[in-house]
Amino acid sequence: EAPAPVEPEKPTRSLLSRLTGAAPAKPVVRRELDDEMLEQLEELLIASDMGVDTALRVTANIAEGRFGKRLSTEEIKTLLSDEITRIMESVAKPLPLYPKKPQVVLVVGVNGAGKTTTIGKLASQFTAAGKSVVIAAGDTFRAAAVEQLQVWGDRAGVPVLTAPEGSDPASLAFDAMTQAEEMGADLLMIDTAGRLQNRQDLMEELAKIVRVIRKKDETAPHNTVLVLDATTGQNALSQVETFQKLADVSGLVMTKLDGTAKGGVLVALADKFGLPIHAIGVGEKIDDLDAFDPKDFAQALTG
Ligand code: GDP
Repeated sequence: EAPAPVEPEKPTRSLLSRLTGAAPAKPVVRRELDDEMLEQLEELLIASDMGVDTALRVTANIAEGRFGKRLSTEEIKTLLSDEITRIMESVAKPLPLYPKKPQVVLVVGVNGAGKTTTIGKLASQFTAAGKSVVIAAGDTFRAAAVEQLQVWGDRAGVPVLTAPEGSDPASLAFDAMTQAEEMGADLLMIDTAGRLQNRQDLMEELAKIVRVIRKKDETAPHNTVLVLDATTGQNALSQVETFQKLADVSGLVMTKLDGTAKGGVLVALADKFGLPIHAIGVGEKIDDLDAFDPKDFAQALTG
């Protein structure tokens, strides 16, 4: 006999059925909230990439005042979803806009995280909101990155300022400031390199970009957005730590949330760093960038 098809692993989604042995649609099954259940809950949250510390804290908060009580699947789900919503509400903040012209948004992150794509999506959203946007292709060492950014600039209908391959990103940033000013642009988004292989170089490169744009505007950059790939799980946490040393990270965009059941890492990030989550990437198309909605997120994560 052929084996039953195996459902893809969805750690938090299967939480309820695994805890009570019943699907939510079946008659209400209550189970005592005891050590065993808490342990299972912890394991499931850890499997969703929430990390041990955060999983323990979330579980402890759910257990508080309820130990020994009999709870239904739906009640557990609601408790979990409410707890996650509570944690995430403090970080759900769109990219703040200032009356500065140009407002300078430095975009950082490792190669492949989705910087180029996110810049294109943001440019499109800001343009739709009536803002004029200029993009600077600050990863001058990767010709492919510059080309890709140009493709996104075309899609969003915004100019992309480039410099010859291998030229100084800081000098491009300076020129971009001048041009953005002359054009009366509302926003200047500066893409940066994401080579973590040589952190010292990258640190100096980013520091120099910041130094030269401050010659034009001492309050710039007004935002330093770190783009993180949500599918990298716990690795995202170490990327935040690394980039906080390299730059003054002011907020996050989490990409590729369309392709993962491991969104728990967002909870760990919120719990550990408290950095604003400005937006989430939910696909490869220009409109696939959503505002971060804590409630929707919590409900999706808890199934
Ligand atoms: P960069 O090296 O940081 O500039 O990364 P890119 O913007 O080039 O993105 C790397 C890959 O991730 C590309 O294939 C993108 O299409 C893909 N990508 C970026 N954001 C998302 C997203 O939100 N969802 C999905 N599914 N793919 C994405």
